[in-house]
Amino acid sequence: MIGYLNGQYLPQENIVISPEDRGFLFADGIYEVIRSYSGKLFRTKAHLDRLSRGASALEFNQTDFRYLEPVCERLIQDNRLTQGDALIYMQVTRGVAPRSHAFPPIETPLTVYAMARPFQPHLREAETGIRAILIPDQRWARCDIKTVGLLANTLAHQRARNSHATEGLFVRDGAVMEGTHSNVMAVMDGKVITPPRTNYMLAGITREFVLSLCGELSIPFLETPLYESDILNVDELMIVGTTVEVTPVIAVNNEKIGSGIPGPLTRKLQKAFHLSASFVG
Ligand code: PLP
Repeated sequence: MIGYLNGQYLPQENIVISPEDRGFLFADGIYEVIRSYSGKLFRTKAHLDRLSRGASALEFNQTDFRYLEPVCERLIQDNRLTQGDALIYMQVTRGVAPRSHAFPPIETPLTVYAMARPFQPHLREAETGIRAILIPDQRWARCDIKTVGLLANTLAHQRARNSHATEGLFVRDGAVMEGTHSNVMAVMDGKVITPPRTNYMLAGITREFVLSLCGELSIPFLETPLYESDILNVDELMIVGTTVEVTPVIAVNNEKIGSGIPGPLTRKLQKAFHLSASFVG
């Protein structure tokens, strides 16, 4: 596979990152994951805009990453990923400098890395739905920045796996915020409910797209807190994200959601998502 590092395209096995990279030492970096459908990248601009917002929030010396769009396209082409599904992973860190908490000199170049790989969609989970568990949210207060500091997410995800669930849903102060790598949406009384954008959750690109589909399909939706105390009484539940797309959640903490099978509005959104994803770009 061919990857990209700081302006160069190289065989993946020849890509070397310094141990003094601040991404390695401090998780001082941000990342994006972009889906490609049959060679067509999905919502690239939205992903690169989010990368820019993250770079501004972390006070990086460069915040415009529009030049990465052709890089992503080339990685798809050069790695022959134009058939089927693929993922682009990109990561930007504050660069390489002797370890010190203070930022390095402003002219220190960022480390900009990108790679592509084939992706097998989670068809069975999309069809039958998944089980989730609720997990106390122990992350920092800037979950709106897509940083590579994901330890709380990986610990929570592993805890879900250890409980034979597929996703962990973070709960903070009695409200369900999002999944470990997804946003969450419920259906109550015919309305799609999703937590509002705050610093305690990531503004998912898929979330935004699914809400726009609700608009197109005249499905009423509301961005409002989803309380832990209500979660077992919702009619339907789903997670949305770049890798999971729209995936039904059929049980939380081993309790059935609705009748324990994917609900009709979830199915409608799943179908609409699949139809549009390959056309929208
Ligand atoms: N929330 C978290 C914590 C995530 O890590 C992700 C994706 O990785 C999402 C939500 C969904 O975001 P997107 O739809 O942009 O993939």
